Amino acid sequence: MSQSPPTRARVTIPLLDLRAQFAPLRAEIMAAIEAVMESQHFIMGNQVRALEAELAAFIGVRAAHGCASGSDALALALMAAGIGAGDEVITTPFTFVATAGAIARLGARPVFVDIDPRTFAIDHDAATRAISSRTRALLPVHLYGLMADMAPLMELAQRHGLTVIEDAAQAIGARYRGEAAGAIGAMGCFSFYPTKNLGGAGDGGMVTSNDPNLAERVALLRDHGSRRRYNHEILGTNSRLDELQAAVLRVKLRHLAQWNERRREIAARYRAMFEAAGLADVLQMPAEPAERTHVYHQFTIRAPRRDQLREFLQRAGVATEVYYPTPLHLQPLFAYLGYRAGEFPNAESASREVLSLPIYPELPEAHQIRLVATIREFYGL
Ligand SMILES: *Cc1c(COP(=O)(O)O)cnc(C)c1O
Repeated sequence: MSQSPPTRARVTIPLLDLRAQFAPLRAEIMAAIEAVMESQHFIMGNQVRALEAELAAFIGVRAAHGCASGSDALALALMAAGIGAGDEVITTPFTFVATAGAIARLGARPVFVDIDPRTFAIDHDAATRAISSRTRALLPVHLYGLMADMAPLMELAQRHGLTVIEDAAQAIGARYRGEAAGAIGAMGCFSFYPTKNLGGAGDGGMVTSNDPNLAERVALLRDHGSRRRYNHEILGTNSRLDELQAAVLRVKLRHLAQWNERRREIAARYRAMFEAAGLADVLQMPAEPAERTHVYHQFTIRAPRRDQLREFLQRAGVATEVYYPTPLHLQPLFAYLGYRAGEFPNAESASREVLSLPIYPELPEAHQIRLVATIREFYGL
């Protein structure tokens, strides 16, 4: 899988421009990389330890443990919670494959429930109905940078003795009633894939927790169940974050709060521009429920005639993306679960209507102006 390939050769307004982020940080990042190279210490050293402490402080949790990817963060969290064969984990079908993939990898069963059509997050009434005697955990996803409605989910989990694991891969820095993504459930899972709000120079991930026992288990599991060299307490794996990644991420973490704020300003500008263009009633803007801080990993609208609009924008050199065109219950990979088309109407209509527009802290206002004008032209307004 390549990292966001250009959809057409003539793209002049890209979805994301990582070089614009790198340019002002070049000296700092290159110095951080050089320091690791000079040390020749690449695995589990000072950089990883420092990043873990800094991220735990940023999110407001007792512990954070780096690992190899966001996908592994999910698997490690589920393993730490003791999830395995025969267990059921309730999650959303409207997410990246890794969410349910982590559940299935452990031999457990992903149980999909429909989403709230405004926030795209798991619907807690649907989750309530899906609980069985085998349900062990809830795995909500904070899609596009907006947190799921956590209070009723936590209450539901408490009532049934379930572990809540947050898929916060798209929502680092997002808040719900003052608490950060990854600080509410038993564990939070993050990704440092290069295009995420905090992106590394390669793959990386992290698991957060306020529970010392779970945090300790994650720490063991990612390093072959070993606390002491060649002494293995439990069956784990090699899923460590490396020093080079940690060094780069530490430089970027210092800018994350400001970058997220900038994404929010750009989102507000989109809203104002769509309003002024008379498109506010044609397109559905992203929801921003009270007491939730959206960090706009994506600015995702719902649009009539979505595919034609996307094609029109593409021909005008404007890149957009569809996250995600096929809900997970209809993916070949999960055919064995026996779901059918029509079973989750909100997820299915979302997959037909969503369109993510360019958003990143350095996005030029001129790009937004041109994009909105092109959309207006498409709808003949
Ligand atoms: C990116 C992402 C993941 C997986 O993260 P990787 O680091 O790519 O393995 C999991 N869940 C969601 C919602 C994501 O967006």
